[in-house]
Amino acid sequence: MNINLFNTLTKKKEKLIPINSSAVKMYACGPTLYSNPHIGNFRPIIVFDILFRVLRLIFGEDSVRYVRNITDIDDKIIDKANELKISTDELVNSTQKIYQQNLSSLSILSPTYEPKATDYISKMIEMITSLIEKKYAYVSEGHVLFEAKKFKGYGSLSKFSLKDIISGARVEVADYKKNPEDFVLWKPSKTNEPHWDSPWGNGRPGWHIECSAMISELLGETIDIHAGGIDLIFPHHENEIAQSTCCHDKKMSNFWLHNGFINFKGEKMSKSLGNTSIVNDLLSKHDPAVLKYSLLTTHYRQPLDFSNDLISYSENIINKWREHIKEVNSKELDSEFVNALLDDLNTPKALMRLQQIIANIKKDKNNDDLLAHFNNGLSLLGLNPSFNKTDLKLDKEFIENMISRRQEAKKDKDFELADKIRNELFKQGIVLEDTKNGTTWKKN
Ligand SMILES: [Zn+2]
Repeated sequence: MNINLFNTLTKKKEKLIPINSSAVKMYACGPTLYSNPHIGNFRPIIVFDILFRVLRLIFGEDSVRYVRNITDIDDKIIDKANELKISTDELVNSTQKIYQQNLSSLSILSPTYEPKATDYISKMIEMITSLIEKKYAYVSEGHVLFEAKKFKGYGSLSKFSLKDIISGARVEVADYKKNPEDFVLWKPSKTNEPHWDSPWGNGRPGWHIECSAMISELLGETIDIHAGGIDLIFPHHENEIAQSTCCHDKKMSNFWLHNGFINFKGEKMSKSLGNTSIVNDLLSKHDPAVLKYSLLTTHYRQPLDFSNDLISYSENIINKWREHIKEVNSKELDSEFVNALLDDLNTPKALMRLQQIIANIKKDKNNDDLLAHFNNGLSLLGLNPSFNKTDLKLDKEFIENMISRRQEAKKDKDFELADKIRNELFKQGIVLEDTKNGTTWKKN
């Protein structure tokens, strides 16, 4: 079996030939846990989980090493934690609990490693030190910056030239930078921000070096596949390539895979637009298989239009499939179904094939081969309907903690903070009620 994948680096579909087929190495950039993930955050998770499953089928279950990280330090996390007057750890721990529940509801396989960025600070410092020694990076006012023009391959992934980057205002100008296109490897922490000791003073890493360090520590200097959302091509992935290549004098990844955006009524979905669909809320209303089916109806590189109509359409199909879900003895898969997935993960075609198989089962009800093809296809995709909507567990400790903080804020006449806490909990589906005997809460 061979798989062909579209490589952003070459803009072509290419056959995947792993460096070592008994240890295929794959990395996907995971979410930044500053609030509960929305459906747009979950698209790469679902899509690259399917890739992980297909690679395990081709090369063997123990022959694929998949790393999907958690970003637990970042400007957005710090801003949100400051806004709520809690620590970044408290914020990340509470969001992570919900995130992990969502992953298991959606039958996402556990990756081989799921590292948190802050556990790899010493590796980041080691790589930054090496980049300074090799003169690719310089220190300025407590910052360490990578000098982009020193790396000849800069722009090879995004196909942007340095001129495009500067004139397109894709970079921030700052007086501590030699050139506007230089990017941060390390920066000083402000008072009350999380910080780590480093040769350049107390500070914290830039976002890009986090992934480079986790990849090099957990998978090695060159990997087979690096994946993520299309919005990460520039600057995040371009900068990862620059740092890792210059640090190790080796190609960072042979394949770069990118999934398209999710649109909601024709607009790009992002938290700042406020049109987001939080996965946790969607899972309290719909079968996880319905949600997953919706996301797989469009090829991963195309933009996906997420709507209530799409959910109803998927619900209809999943409901029709339920009666054909059976325990089967054979492990055999349908070749057309598998071939669709081997062709750059063509999930719409694979789902269509399952529909055809169902049509054939209706004509020939006791055909064990067809039943096996259908059920094994569903299992490969992790798409078995669960019959029940997920009863989501709430992080009671976090909610009660936030309520007592709100109480304190009210005592201090900090009504702005008290309102922020109420709104934040509301966004998580929790309604507060103030009574004579204190504050109670219930699920919205
Ligand atoms: Zn990354």
